[in-house]
Amino acid sequence: MDNAKPAGFATRAIHLGYDPMQHEGALTPPLHLTSTFAFEDAEAGAAIFAGEKPGYFYSRISNPTLDLLERRCADLEGAEAGVAFASGMGSICSVLWTFLSPGDEIVTDKTLYGCTFAFMRHGLAKFGITITHADMTDPDSVRAALSDKTRIVYFETPANPNMRLVDIEAISLIARQRGCKVVVDNTYATPVLTRPIELGADIVVHSATKYMGGHGDLVGGIAVGSAEDMQQVRIFGMKDMTGAVMAPFNAMLVLRGLKTLKLRVEKHCHNAMTVARALEAHPAVAKVNYPGLESFAQHMLAARQMPGFGAMIAFELKGGLEAGRAMMNRLQLVRRAVSLGDTETLIQHPASMTHSTYTPEERAAHGIAEGLIRLSVGIEEVEDIVADLLSALDDPASTSIAA
Ligand SMILES: *Cc1c(COP(=O)(O)O)cnc(C)c1O
Repeated sequence: MDNAKPAGFATRAIHLGYDPMQHEGALTPPLHLTSTFAFEDAEAGAAIFAGEKPGYFYSRISNPTLDLLERRCADLEGAEAGVAFASGMGSICSVLWTFLSPGDEIVTDKTLYGCTFAFMRHGLAKFGITITHADMTDPDSVRAALSDKTRIVYFETPANPNMRLVDIEAISLIARQRGCKVVVDNTYATPVLTRPIELGADIVVHSATKYMGGHGDLVGGIAVGSAEDMQQVRIFGMKDMTGAVMAPFNAMLVLRGLKTLKLRVEKHCHNAMTVARALEAHPAVAKVNYPGLESFAQHMLAARQMPGFGAMIAFELKGGLEAGRAMMNRLQLVRRAVSLGDTETLIQHPASMTHSTYTPEERAAHGIAEGLIRLSVGIEEVEDIVADLLSALDDPASTSIAA
């Protein structure tokens, strides 16, 4: 096995780091539902605490079920190590609080997930950290935004909710030349479609609530990066600052999700391409943002950076917000819900839901249109998803608004 060619993505997502023969032959890894760990003697406990002896002592720091999940996620992202969190926000806050101090600056893209934007605006700014937004689709804008105080360059690609892409390699190069750490939120793309570490990023964060878990039954987060950075994040960001540790039961569910991640993402991508084309062809639709469409402004970058285009679509109707709301209310199969990456197709309105953390003026400045509708294409039969969307669009009332 050691001399063999490294196993492929799906094989590692299913097998990496687990040998049933060490666990009574159990095919599925055991769930270590425990808060604390007993020591052989007082000396052993002291040695584990001091980091002189490997071992577990308390599940806010580490736990064998989380350990397996962390190793698999790190491996799938091409990183050395990982830390699992109670939520995506837990991972983002823990990472940023670990590496930023008062007086430091963080440079981020114009568009960010609503709670990440709010965390930076309020949660970081109130401790004297400067937030500078750059247009990360333009390398010159990033160069101009960097200062001697910049410690971190942070972005999402594709960005939630408008689908802007960032050229990870180009922006990482600029940031690293200035000694900054690059942190990428890879929730939308997943490691199946993009591995930012291989393109020069330092740390990748995820909302495992989305594609990694994949079934809408948990909230969780992941961060991966170098062993040294992850040790800092574990010991300071998570252990002492946020305490946002993932529950072992959720780690077991995410491990299960990872086993089908590649399979699901491939089906998600296939369905989304069909849905995007159907929406684009409909007369009531003004604009569809989907990286796989030739009409997408950054289609060339998408084709270079992503082997598939994901399953998130943002679109606007000619009738604007009112037509969008009416259309959402006519859907029968597609669920009106936030979150994304689930087996179910989900639809939501960012300006009044996930991105209501921005003021209207901020949304305008950050490229989030008021009428934008966000669709997370699920893995139901694509004919059924398209039929539901088209019949909601075809309603005579919506056509008359659009006309
Ligand atoms: C959902 C989401 C988050 C936050 O994750 P939670 O698990 O909800 O805390 C962060 N980034 C992106 C891009 C997301 O979609």
